[in-house]
Amino acid sequence: MTRVQTGTIGVLLTTLALNCAALAGEKTAWRLFVSDHSEPIVNVIDLLKQEKIETFATKAPARLYRSKTGRTVLAVQRGADLVTAIDSGISFEDHGDHGDIKVKPPRLLGVEIAGKQPSHVVEYGVEIAIFFDGEGRARIASERMILESKSVLRETAAGVPHHGVAVANDRYTLISEPNVRNSDELPIGIKIVDKSGTQIGGVHSCPDLHGEATSGNILVFSCATGLLVASMDGSAPQVKHLPYAAALPSGKTTTMLGGRGLQYFLGNYGSNKVVLMEPTDVEPFRLVTLPMRRVDFTVDPVRAKFAYVFTEDGRLHRLDVITGKLDGSLRVTEPYSMDGHWNDPRPRLAVAGDMVVVTDPARGVVALVDTMSLTKAGEITVGGRPFNIVAVGGSGQTHDD
Ligand code: ZN
Ligand code: ZN
Repeated sequence: MTRVQTGTIGVLLTTLALNCAALAGEKTAWRLFVSDHSEPIVNVIDLLKQEKIETFATKAPARLYRSKTGRTVLAVQRGADLVTAIDSGISFEDHGDHGDIKVKPPRLLGVEIAGKQPSHVVEYGVEIAIFFDGEGRARIASERMILESKSVLRETAAGVPHHGVAVANDRYTLISEPNVRNSDELPIGIKIVDKSGTQIGGVHSCPDLHGEATSGNILVFSCATGLLVASMDGSAPQVKHLPYAAALPSGKTTTMLGGRGLQYFLGNYGSNKVVLMEPTDVEPFRLVTLPMRRVDFTVDPVRAKFAYVFTEDGRLHRLDVITGKLDGSLRVTEPYSMDGHWNDPRPRLAVAGDMVVVTDPARGVVALVDTMSLTKAGEITVGGRPFNIVAVGGSGQTHDD
């Protein structure tokens, strides 16, 4: 009896100690923003509670883009000629020796950036450039302005409609040069314009330009012939062409992601490969052959040496970007064949803290996989056909609550 009481007190004391620690302020919050393949909605899921906390109506099914800070999620609705800004509700403030986290309900910011056929969104520094294919121009916004419910800082001059891209800093914009003989084809290069719209220098050739990413201070675009490697740090942007290594099989990358923590790029290359690219390395290209055709891939922003690739047999693979080898895999969903339309609903990936999150549109759920053990860590019912996904969150202190 006495022993039991002592034990109970011990448990109580431990609980109190934990509560005090919690009050003193460590907080973790993660949210998933998940759009539907065919419905015009964006669902918001609290990852720790494992439940849906909000559903925002959009005008058309959306592709989602998260800002680098994670404070803003942009819902790009090509079918409605509109980009809608959502405040993720999670923000961090640097207090020097620690960071504070603030968690509020997610909300629509009332900012809608309209224009014909919005496509690629690129954030560089504080500028977010949204390209509108139907107008051949970009509208450039900043996260600070969007959060103040103001939208566009400036826009480039209208051009020939084409599927393009722009990247801006406070002085210059890199913008795709359309194929004027046939603007249904991909762009032929990149040109630099200043704020007044004056072109600086010639067009930097990049046949079949599609795909762009940043990693650290390097920006790359992919071309049929290799990469355009750009730096926008100096007084004027510098752009160089890096050809694919002669040893690579014929192919090209058309979608790229930039490493976080480590400076590298990960791109597709043919249907059953990915390519690791380090533009400043002596051997800048390393191919990784996958066991099956690729569905989606993502980089781990925290465990910098890992990236994840999902293949059509329903398996998630972990890629060690240092060794260039797959170092584990897990069956997560039923197979999703890559035969059929490119835009059929298939899984998409995001990394949220210690989890890789996999949308499973056929079952209306998102599956959670532990990044370290590569074991299933649960699933959350979303309903509909969950498709594009971004994750925001992290941990911080809350001492000013
Ligand atoms: Zn603080
Ligand atoms: Zn595209």
